[in-house]
Amino acid sequence: MANAVSIKLDGRQVTIPSGISLWEAARREGIEVPTLCHDPRLRPVGVCRLCVVDVKDSRLLVPSCTREVEEGLEVQTGTPRVEAARRTLLELLMAGHPSPCAAVGTQKGCELERWAQHYQARPGRFSNGGPDAPTRVDAQALRDSSSKVIDVDLSACILCDRCIRGCDEIQSNDVIGRLGRGSAAWIGFDHGLPMGESTCVSCGECQVVCPTGALVNKRGAEAGKDDRKVESVCPYCGVGCAVTYHVQDDRVVEVTGREESPVNQGRLCVKGRYGYDYAAHAQRLQVPLIRKESAYPKGPLSAVVAGKKRRKPGGIVDYDEVLPSFREATWDEALDLAATRLGEIKDTHGPGALAGFGSAKCSNEEAYLFQKLVRAAFGTNNVDHCTRLCHASSVAALLETIGSGAVSNVFADALEAQTLFIIGSNTTENHPVAATFFKEAKARGANLLVVDPRRPPMADHADLYLRFRPGTDVAFLNGMMHVILEEGMVRDRFVSERTEGFEALAAKLKEWPPEKAAKICGIEAEQIRRAARLYGGVDRSMIFWGMGISQHTTGTDNARCLISLCLMTGNIGRPGTGLHPLRGQNNVQGASDAGLIPMVYPGYQAVGQEDLRSKFEKAWGVSLDPNPGLTVTEIISAALKGDIRGMLMLGENPFLSDPNLNKVRRALSSLEFLVVQDIFLTETAEFADVILPASSFFEKEGTYTNTDRRVQIGPKVLDPPGKARPDWEVICDLSTRMGYPMHYENAEEIFDEFRRLTPSHAGLTYERLGKLGLLWPCPSEDHPGTSVLFDKEFPTGRGKFVPVDYRPPQEEPDEAYPFVLNTGRVLEHWHTGTMTRRSEVLSALSPEAFVEVHPGDGDRLGVSDGQWVRVRSRRGEIELKARLSERTPVGSVFIPFHFREASANVLTIDKVDPHAKIPEFKFCAVTLEPL
Ligand code: SF4
Repeated sequence: MANAVSIKLDGRQVTIPSGISLWEAARREGIEVPTLCHDPRLRPVGVCRLCVVDVKDSRLLVPSCTREVEEGLEVQTGTPRVEAARRTLLELLMAGHPSPCAAVGTQKGCELERWAQHYQARPGRFSNGGPDAPTRVDAQALRDSSSKVIDVDLSACILCDRCIRGCDEIQSNDVIGRLGRGSAAWIGFDHGLPMGESTCVSCGECQVVCPTGALVNKRGAEAGKDDRKVESVCPYCGVGCAVTYHVQDDRVVEVTGREESPVNQGRLCVKGRYGYDYAAHAQRLQVPLIRKESAYPKGPLSAVVAGKKRRKPGGIVDYDEVLPSFREATWDEALDLAATRLGEIKDTHGPGALAGFGSAKCSNEEAYLFQKLVRAAFGTNNVDHCTRLCHASSVAALLETIGSGAVSNVFADALEAQTLFIIGSNTTENHPVAATFFKEAKARGANLLVVDPRRPPMADHADLYLRFRPGTDVAFLNGMMHVILEEGMVRDRFVSERTEGFEALAAKLKEWPPEKAAKICGIEAEQIRRAARLYGGVDRSMIFWGMGISQHTTGTDNARCLISLCLMTGNIGRPGTGLHPLRGQNNVQGASDAGLIPMVYPGYQAVGQEDLRSKFEKAWGVSLDPNPGLTVTEIISAALKGDIRGMLMLGENPFLSDPNLNKVRRALSSLEFLVVQDIFLTETAEFADVILPASSFFEKEGTYTNTDRRVQIGPKVLDPPGKARPDWEVICDLSTRMGYPMHYENAEEIFDEFRRLTPSHAGLTYERLGKLGLLWPCPSEDHPGTSVLFDKEFPTGRGKFVPVDYRPPQEEPDEAYPFVLNTGRVLEHWHTGTMTRRSEVLSALSPEAFVEVHPGDGDRLGVSDGQWVRVRSRRGEIELKARLSERTPVGSVFIPFHFREASANVLTIDKVDPHAKIPEFKFCAVTLEPL
C-alpha cells in the first residue's frame, strides 16, 4: 500500500493509509470507537473527548478523531482507563439530559443515551444540583418549535458543534453558531433568531448530524421507527440525490440521504428530505374518469387563468368544482374509449393529427415506451416533453458544435476546478445539493464568478458577481471572449488540434471590445475584463448554466457563446473543466436519451437517417414516419389551427407550464379528444375527455438519469392507491388496443430493449446499475461508465466555433409595459406545483404566489411589501402580492411559475428561439399597478 503506515491496534499489527485519524483507522479495521462530536463527513474538532484511546508511551489519553496515525504507534481502544474516562464523561453529559429525550424512538435515536447504556454510566451521578453538578446556564428559550420541520430542545444539547459544522461544512449555509460564552454557551440561528424566522433553508442536515434530541425531525419524531427501508433516488430535480425511504405501514415516514452516493454524499435539500408526502395526498386519482357529455364545453372551471379574477388562497385544483364534469369508469371502458377515439382521428385525418407529450418525471422505461407508442401505434413523430421548455437551446447548440447534448463533466467536478463560472442559474434554489458542492469548492479556494440579472444567493459567495441587463448575454459573453483573445488567454494548441472555425470567431470578436459590450449589457468594461481573466486566466475552469441562458429567443446563441468560451480556452476533456447545463427535472436527461424528442429516436439517432430508421423499424416490426415531428410549442399552435386533433399527455401540465396560457387554453379546448394520464387532476386534466390514474414515483420500478448522465434505479416503494396503475402498463394496454401490441413482464425488460437499441447505454444492465448507478456512455457490459467526456475528440471530430451577434429580446419594455418580467422557481416548489403544493411541509414553507419588485420601483409605484398588485402583459393579467427585494433589478419583476391562482405564464410570450423552439420565458414586457 502506497503511503501506508504500520500500527498495532488492539494488539493486532495492521497496515493503513497514512494521513487518516486513529478513529478512522479503527473504523476501517471494524472497531467502533464511540464519539459524539465527530462525523466522518465533518472536520474533526475533538471537543467531546469520548473517542479517547490509550497510546503507548503517552501519559494522557488521546482523542482518536484528531490524532493522525504514525508509523509504529501502539493503540488500545478499550482499556479500563479508557472505559472509566468515557463513563465519567457520559455521566457528566447525562446530567440535565431530558428524560425522555426527544430522539429516543426516532429513526436515528439518541447517541448519548446509547453510549451511556453501553458504558453503564449512572445518569444521576452529577445531577440534582449536587456538588459536582455542572452549572450550565441555558438559553432563555430551551425549546423552539418555530421551524416547520425541526424541533429544537436546547436542554438536550451537549455543545458538540456537529450541527454548526453540518450546516457550514456539508451544506455551506452557515446559519447556526455558538452564542454566549463558557458554561453559558448555546447554539443559535442567525445570532439568536427563532429557527423558523432565521435564514435556515430547512435542508435538515443539522438534525441528521445532531447526536441527541436537541434537533429532531418533527415528522420523523411523530412517526417513530420504520419497518423497512428502500434505497432509491429523489423524485424532484436533476441533481438526482440518492436517498433511503423509511417506510412504516405502507407509507413513507422519513427520508435520509445515502452517504455512499457519489452524487450527493448524503446531502439533501428541503424537497428531497420533506417533500415525500404528496403521494399519499387525499386528491390522488384512484379510478379512471370520463368526461360527461353534459360537461362540454371543456376548459378550466376554477382557475384565474380562465379570466376570472379571484384571490383564492391555496391554489391546487378545487375538486368539488371540477369532478362533477367527470364520471367514474372501469379501466376497460376508459382505455377502449381512448383507443377508439384516437384511432378514429388517425384514420380520418392521418397520423399527423395525433401528438403526445411525455414526462421528464417518469422513468427511462416509460419515456422509451411512450415514444414507441406515439411512433409505432400513433404513426407520427409528434412526441416531445418539457425539455423543449428548459434546455432545448443548450442541447441544440451542444449538438451543433460538439455533437453531444449531454454534460461533459459531473457537477462534483467543481471540486477540481480553479474557477467556477455560473451564469443564468439560481443553483441554490433550483439545484440545491449541487450548489453545496460549488460553495465547498469556493471554500477550498476556487474562484467563483457569478453572472445573472437577478442576484442569486450564490452571489454572496462569489469573488465577482455581475448583474447584466436581462437578455444581453451574447453582448456580455462576446465582450468576455474579446478580452480572452486580446490578452492572449486562448489555448492555441487546443484550438488548432481540436477545433475548427476559430478564424471566423476571432474576426467576429474583434467587433466586440468590452466598451461596446458594456453599452449593451450594462456592465463596466473593466468588470468584463475581470470576468474574462477569472475564467481564462487559470488552467481549469468549468461553466455551469441554467435557464437564464436557455429560455430566450436567443437561447441557442447564448449557449453557442459559452461553448466558444470553453473551446477557445481548452477547458474541456479534463476533470475540473467542461460544460454543464444543469438539467431541471429528475429525468429530463433520461427522457431525452430515451427518445422523447420529435427528431430523434432513443440515443439521439435521427429519425431522418435511413439506416437508423430501418434499425428501429426492424426492432419494432413497423414502418416509421421518416419526417421529424412537431415540438411542444409547435403542437400547441397546430392544435389551435386544427391540425392536431387528438392528444395523449403523460404527466405534463402545459396549462401551467407553457407560455401564453390563454393561447394554450384555446388550443386545448379545441382538441377533439384529449387523454391525460397523471397522478392528480391537474390544470391540464380539466380539459381531458379521459383521465387515467397513474402511479407516482414511489409506486413503480424504473431508472432515472440525473444531470450528470448517471442512470440510477428507483425501486418500487409503495403500492399504488385504489385502481391507479404503473404508467408503463397503461401505455402497453393503450397501444395494444390501438392495434400495436406491447407486452412486457417488468421495467427491466423494457430497459433491456431500450439499451440494446441505444449504443451509449448498451452496457447498462439493472444488475450493473446496482445501488449507485453508472454514468453513460457505457457501450459494453465490461465498460465502467464515463465521467469526463471529450478527452480525446468530440463526436463530431473537431469542436466547432459558431460566432454570433447580439439580438435584442422579442418584446422590449415600452411606455405601456415598462417592466421586464423574469420567471423561475423557488426552493420549495417544483414546476407546476402538482407534487410540491400537495406536500404539507413544502406548501407551508411557501404557500403563495408573489411578484418580486425592487424597493425603488415599489416606492415609485406606491407599492409596499405584501400589498396586492395587478401585473399585466399584452396577453393577460394576474393579481398577487408584491415582495420587495433588491435581488430583482430596477425595471424588472420576478414571478415564480408554480402557482395556478396567479400563473406567471398568463403573462409570458410564446415567441420561440428559431433553432430550438424554446420560448422566451425570461423576458417579456409587463406593467404593474397597486390594488
Ligand atoms: Fe432532490 Fe434535487 Fe433536492 Fe437533491 S437537490 S434532494 S435531487 S430536489
